[in-house]
Amino acid sequence: MTTTTITTTTTPTTTTDEPLARIVRAWMLDAAERIVAAREVLTELDARIGDGDHGINLARGMTLVGDELSGAALGDPATDLVASGRRLVSSVGGASGPLYGTLLIDAGAALSSAAGPVPTRLAVALARGVAGVGRRGRSTIGQKTMLDTLMPASDAMSESAARGEPLPMATAAALAAGRTGCERTRGMVAQRGRASYLGERAVGHLDPGAVSSVLLLEALDAAASERAAALHGTQAGVASR
Ligand code: ADP
Ligand code: MG
Repeated sequence: MTTTTITTTTTPTTTTDEPLARIVRAWMLDAAERIVAAREVLTELDARIGDGDHGINLARGMTLVGDELSGAALGDPATDLVASGRRLVSSVGGASGPLYGTLLIDAGAALSSAAGPVPTRLAVALARGVAGVGRRGRSTIGQKTMLDTLMPASDAMSESAARGEPLPMATAAALAAGRTGCERTRGMVAQRGRASYLGERAVGHLDPGAVSSVLLLEALDAAASERAAALHGTQAGVASR
């Protein structure tokens, strides 16, 4: 049996992408489960202010993502994100397929070049992915879209990472900010997507994309927390994880 020597510090930085690869893999698999479980809720939200396909479409795409990743050997985390994004572009119709595809593809591209500790790298990746959504959708915060969740979440994650906080704190901050942003969409008139045709009639309803984005952030936070728990629990087992 070969043993890898692991040096542990209280704030570990990595020279290998293996820990990050595990987090990204767990993130995508958990996101797929959450989206599939929430399929009806998302579709119902979209039926109120759109065309009622958001949950069905996204669940179809994320099922394919989950199937592909669960059978693949663990490798480069950036590749997981880019492959997942491409799968969403090719399998999810409507606005959200290309937009979530861009989120993951741009995040993956940024992850391969981002330097520093894991929270910083993931924060940079998320920020780049979110910027890609804005570019592709010609959209920004305050327009009752997924960006109302994603932009504040990304900002909160970057700020936490810049303070040097560990990953579970950064992802928890992102999730909290994303939830608050999502809830704000209820009071908004939509300025992008199908809901924009409704004008004032969309007020009072959550944006479905903002809700599915919260699920993505929940999955990221769960992946980060699980990883931290695993590292804490069995230091002796780190090499074999
Ligand atoms: P479609 O509206 O084409 O049926 P979906 O129902 O799958 O697509 O996704 C709708 C969601 O996509 C919206 O709730 C919103 O969050 C998001 N969305 C739509 N257009 C944009 C845009 N231009 N920028 C950002 N997000 C958008
Ligand atoms: Mg729709």
